Amino acid sequence: MFDIVIVGGGIVGLSFANALAGSDFSVAVIERNELDVIGEKPDCRVSAINRSALKHFRQRGVFESSLVQRVCAFEKMFVWDQTGAGQIEFDSAELGVPELGVIVENNVLQHMLLESVRSADNITYLCPQEISEIDYQFSDDKISDDKKHLASRLTLVSGKIVSAKLLVGADGVNSKVRDVALIQRAKQSYQQQGLVCNVTTSEHHQNTAWQCFMPSGPLAFLPLYNGDSSIVWSLDETYAEQYMALDDEAFKIVLAEASEFKLGEILDVSQRFLFPLSHGHVSEYVKPGLALIGDAAHNIHPLAGQGANLGIADAFVLADVILAAKKANRQWAALHTLVKYQRQRRGANQLMEASMTGFKELFGRKNAALSEVRNAGLSLVDHIPALKYKIIQQALG
Ligand SMILES: Cc1cc2nc3c(=O)[nH]c(=O)nc-3n(C[C@H](O)[C@H](O)[C@H](O)COP(=O)(O)OP(=O)(O)OC[C@H]3O[C@@H](n4cnc5c(N)ncnc54)[C@H](O)[C@@H]3O)c2cc1C
Repeated sequence: MFDIVIVGGGIVGLSFANALAGSDFSVAVIERNELDVIGEKPDCRVSAINRSALKHFRQRGVFESSLVQRVCAFEKMFVWDQTGAGQIEFDSAELGVPELGVIVENNVLQHMLLESVRSADNITYLCPQEISEIDYQFSDDKISDDKKHLASRLTLVSGKIVSAKLLVGADGVNSKVRDVALIQRAKQSYQQQGLVCNVTTSEHHQNTAWQCFMPSGPLAFLPLYNGDSSIVWSLDETYAEQYMALDDEAFKIVLAEASEFKLGEILDVSQRFLFPLSHGHVSEYVKPGLALIGDAAHNIHPLAGQGANLGIADAFVLADVILAAKKANRQWAALHTLVKYQRQRRGANQLMEASMTGFKELFGRKNAALSEVRNAGLSLVDHIPALKYKIIQQALG
């Protein structure tokens, strides 16, 4: 019997395990896929990690890994509207901080987190392991639920059985843990696809994250450690299909023109991938002896690169809540403890989800009057330091 079983060893599940490394809890992480070997060239799936998450990772030694050389700090962010003259620039120097965040390949961050998790005696990493059945017994009776819920029992395809006092679903957007706990999730498709790939440009990225809003969807160029940039282009479905069908030479031209040659010509482009874009939020983050974190609980539009950051914040808050309860000798897996995590995180996650949907709507509209307001707004904010500071503080976490 483990105190805690985490289903899912993605960025969020491993962040949670990392926060519990060295604690009195016995923890198991169950992950179905072995981590990809880190290639010579950067991988296409990258994340912008904000300062709040970075602070936790640095405090917990995650960035002491030799892989830190694959992490690229960005000092500036430049955002512009392709339909007008509106633009805004955020500079870490103006904020008195060394960087606005870092761009890191998802599998590199997972490897770094895994190094710290593997070196902890209290954590067992079960991978590759697929779950065949989860037996989660709970009562909706608010008075007696803590007493009635004893443990969850997970049967793995290998035949192994693991039990947990607290079952944590960090198993992504199609969470099985969420399903067995009968937690409802409201979801909506954006009718967009995220086209991702890496590019070599004729001009250096200048450690700047570039983001252009255009009628077909937002396009981001995120700086990579080797001078290349990773692009995330959120496209209406018809554009996504068209751009995937182009050969590399034609795609390079379309991309350079879309970015208004901010980084010059596109010299080289990697394989392109598409991800369907949707947003969703669960009705409850917790039940007795069960909690959902990361994409299992909520997912948002990637236009501001905040999805993983929200999940990492969930992981650290949940860890703080149960560590404090254990220290105070209270029922750390009980519903009345776990709701403290839900209370701290739900509002922030809902606000970010609503903001991303609002931004997508505001910048996706082709209306000329709206375009003028948008452009004027961007440039106005650029000239009001206090407002600019407020916006960037939100993004930095
Ligand atoms: C195009 C795109 C760009 C993005 N860019 C950014 C960005 O710049 N910054 C940012 O913060 N966010 C970004 N995001 C969002 C971010 O990628 C996600 O929010 C984040 O990866 C979610 O992490 P997670 O660990 O919760 O889920 P996942 O990454 O989905 O991990 C879930 C893990 O659980 C495992 N699993 C699932 N089911 C089982 C099972 N039954 N048994 C065992 N294991 C299981 C899976 O194999 C997986 O490893 C982007 C998203 C997209 C689509």
